Amino acid sequence: MKQRISNAQKIYKEGVRLLEDAGVEEAGLDAWHLLEHVSGITRAAYYAHPDLELDVEQEEAYFAYVRRRARRIPLQHITGEQEFMGYPFYVNGHVLIPRQDTELLVEEALGMLAPGMRILDMCTGSGCILISLLKAGRERRHIAGLYGTGTDISQEALQVAERNARRLLGGRGTEEEAGGFRFCRGDLFENAEGKYDLIVSNPPYIRTQEIKKLQPEVQCHDPYIALDGRDDGLHYYRRITAESTAHITEGGHLLFETGHDQAEDVCALLEQAGYHGVFVKKDLAGLDRVVGGSYNRT
Ligand code: GLN
Repeated sequence: MKQRISNAQKIYKEGVRLLEDAGVEEAGLDAWHLLEHVSGITRAAYYAHPDLELDVEQEEAYFAYVRRRARRIPLQHITGEQEFMGYPFYVNGHVLIPRQDTELLVEEALGMLAPGMRILDMCTGSGCILISLLKAGRERRHIAGLYGTGTDISQEALQVAERNARRLLGGRGTEEEAGGFRFCRGDLFENAEGKYDLIVSNPPYIRTQEIKKLQPEVQCHDPYIALDGRDDGLHYYRRITAESTAHITEGGHLLFETGHDQAEDVCALLEQAGYHGVFVKKDLAGLDRVVGGSYNRT
């Protein structure tokens, strides 16, 4: 049996070089994640012990992963995971990889929670919005009796969401139980029975013509249906806003993530549908990112 052992620093640097040559933006960081994924060696340990070594299996696994990443397969599809709101989410090619920008939507929604609320996450994908909202609402804000519904048109996406919910929230729970949840397949509100106090959504919003300008990781590996917002990018905002008024409780809230140049149009859609107190929140980069409003029939 071969016992060849290689120096971790040498291997790490060779991986960075291969990723840089492939045009990977965060080559150094991605190589870290892959090194840690195969060997458990953290960045701190790597610096503290310059002569750390990898055995031949670890080295081969590392370079196999680096070669996949060099083909612009997203890091998250290699490790199977993306952190969101501090929680680990399982991901695969059937769901949009959760983005840090979307945490702003969850933060805003957290501020709106009240005991016993029914929450609907439209186009739930990996379930990251709904699940982190229920979990943080329960564990960080101590809000009792939240019940969440996630819908998506993709059955494969719902399997990912279900898996994440079981792992992060435990059992499915009942409607009355804190942290209870369900997922249902349907075209937007098609199967979303009942009324909701809070409707959240990060729908597909890229203009069809702009999809081809995205990074290869996004363009080729995030699901096309999770990106495509049709000609003007507003297709789903239009439909969700119009259809939401039949599914929102008196005084209920609608909250969207939007593209940086869409907030004004989405505000207008909410106002036309009868929402009031319409507002825009900017992300850490100073770009418009979240639009929300409240609904009263009377
Ligand atoms: N709601 C999921 C997310 O924010 C999926 C969104 C989508 O597929 N457009 O990550």
